[in-house]
Amino acid sequence: MTARDKAGFLRDMSSLASYFPTLETARAQLSLPAGEPVSVERLAMLVVHAALIRRTSWAEDVEIAPATLERGEPALPDDLEVHHHVRLDADLGGGPCTACAAMPGKRPCRVCGGKGMLFLSPCSCANGYIPCPTCGGTTKSNRVRLRYYTDAPAFLTEAYMPTHVTAVPTLFGLESRMEQDIQFQQPLPEELRCHDLTGRVAGSAYRGGERTIRPDFHGHDFGDTIDKALAGLSAIGAGASVVRHVIRAYAWPFLRLRWAMGEDLAIYVDRIGSTKVFGTSGVPLGID
Ligand SMILES: [Zn+2]
Ligand SMILES: [Zn+2]
Repeated sequence: MTARDKAGFLRDMSSLASYFPTLETARAQLSLPAGEPVSVERLAMLVVHAALIRRTSWAEDVEIAPATLERGEPALPDDLEVHHHVRLDADLGGGPCTACAAMPGKRPCRVCGGKGMLFLSPCSCANGYIPCPTCGGTTKSNRVRLRYYTDAPAFLTEAYMPTHVTAVPTLFGLESRMEQDIQFQQPLPEELRCHDLTGRVAGSAYRGGERTIRPDFHGHDFGDTIDKALAGLSAIGAGASVVRHVIRAYAWPFLRLRWAMGEDLAIYVDRIGSTKVFGTSGVPLGID
């Protein structure tokens, strides 16, 4: 490839069209079976980059709470660090202090062992006793429920291949090969971003409601990858409430081509713009 070709090629890679493989380009650059394929399936891998904050909490009932505790849910974090919070969750009502029930308002001093003297000098306690540290000597408790919160980040970086493709013996290994060739862990081109995977569109004002269309990426079908991605996302959120999330989804298009003699190939464009072929007789002649 000449320098001028390379410059032109890099400029072309900024356009959406450069990510779509074509049979014509593949034929010109790679070894493909002769004749026309009997089936051309336009498909896409789905790549998800997600960062979310999982909030978990647990409660503890205590006799007395620090006076400075706030109530209510902690504010949402604005970073992806681990945070801990304590909040006053509920007042459980007053009653006798259970910590000093045997000796209301007092507790034996642990310094002098309750003797009131330390060696030959009087202990700083009051004749062997100190005020009950739980109720402060009042003999009354003010029981409250505390709630401890932990906000912790979780990340998902995953590429999903339509399941029916992974079941084709000649395409075994396509998923991991494409994952390497498109470098799915790296930031992906904005042109390949999918802003809505739900496929929901507003319904008629007269009928109301919404209708669902099957999402695709410029005619390339996602297969079951959206369901797999949603399952992956709910799995990392499970057991917590997800209080923040940033989810980016990208399509990486490819073609599955079948010929009458049984050849079953996939072609796609890799990260640097080379057309790749995978599958039976898919020996790349390569222009890397
Ligand atoms: Zn003492
Ligand atoms: Zn007490």
